[in-house]
Amino acid sequence: MNLTELAPAHIRAIAPYQPGKPISELAREMGLAEADIVKLASNENPLGMSPRAKAALQNEVDGLALYPDGNGFTLKSALAARLSVGPDQIVLGNGSNDVLEMAARAFLMPGLSAVFSQYAFAVYPLAIQAVGATGISVPAKDHGHDLAAMAAAIRADTRMVFIANPNNPTGTLLSGAALHAFLKSVPQSVLVVLDEAYVEFLDAGLQAPSVAWLAEFPNLIVTRTFSKAHGLAGLRVGYALARAEVADLLNRVRQPFNVNSLALAAAAAALEDAEFLAASKRVNDAGMAQLTEGCRALGLDWIPSAGNFLCIKVGDAGGVFQELLRNGVIVRPVASYGMPEYLRVSIGLPEQNARFLAVLARTLGK
Ligand SMILES: *Cc1c(COP(=O)(O)O)cnc(C)c1O
Repeated sequence: MNLTELAPAHIRAIAPYQPGKPISELAREMGLAEADIVKLASNENPLGMSPRAKAALQNEVDGLALYPDGNGFTLKSALAARLSVGPDQIVLGNGSNDVLEMAARAFLMPGLSAVFSQYAFAVYPLAIQAVGATGISVPAKDHGHDLAAMAAAIRADTRMVFIANPNNPTGTLLSGAALHAFLKSVPQSVLVVLDEAYVEFLDAGLQAPSVAWLAEFPNLIVTRTFSKAHGLAGLRVGYALARAEVADLLNRVRQPFNVNSLALAAAAAALEDAEFLAASKRVNDAGMAQLTEGCRALGLDWIPSAGNFLCIKVGDAGGVFQELLRNGVIVRPVASYGMPEYLRVSIGLPEQNARFLAVLARTLGK
């Protein structure tokens, strides 16, 4: 018997998510020392995490024989106070990936559809497909979301639209005005998931008032994460903000203890460390300038990015990726996104960015 055929067709059709290559794996494969490898592949924080988060982790270790607080009271209270929402409007996730999947499970099923953009974050089609719903990919405009085309793509069976702002892997950013107009144009029977995984890297003036929009749009779900600017990717913690009725539905499909005790404690501490967050943004702004200037000097094009990463057009990206690996530099090919000429590089510390640019220049014979 072919056991594979026991799984529903929509599960068998899933192409697995391709994560960035871990440092330990490259070290094994190439016989390199881990300390000599630079990983700029998964949009992680090159500063690590807030020292306050680290202290909170150490404090939590002795309590790990106990289950975590399944309601995440402390973290939700801290988020509620900071964002001026009710704790009943917050859904905590094992990374924001988890809340994206909860949204799909709560509102989608076979016979229903969800809209997302070409080049948008790969988890959206995966989450849609995993529940047997139909994904509608809308052609991008200048590598970014074409909101008018996305609104026009909404069908009678559409229940959800995913928007990443800024988007990963392209780094494209939509203005608050464009997003607000889009929200006004979408029927309230369609949930709009606004994924703000990189919002902390935006200058204040570029941040959409998305949380305030929850009062105006009952169909809005905003998602955020502690993985990127807060530097807690390995702990897995993110959250969704929505109207209480919507948050309640998401919580029904949530695993009872989906966010572990260490993650809850570290996230609550990280939230209070404005200084670390500001330092992360400064390092990112400087690194972005360093990388774009480096690309200009090499005569390379890039997609202007509002995130902590940059898509650079290098031609044969697969070949360049392999050559970078041989030199101990891990970046991210984005051929699986339909961008075979680009590499996505996460912004690192100045010396890491310099190392990447030097190896890239050598690889391209410049
Ligand atoms: C990294 C990322 C996420 C989620 O990351 P988690 O670690 O699961 O919180 C969500 N959306 C986008 C666009 C991302 O790039």
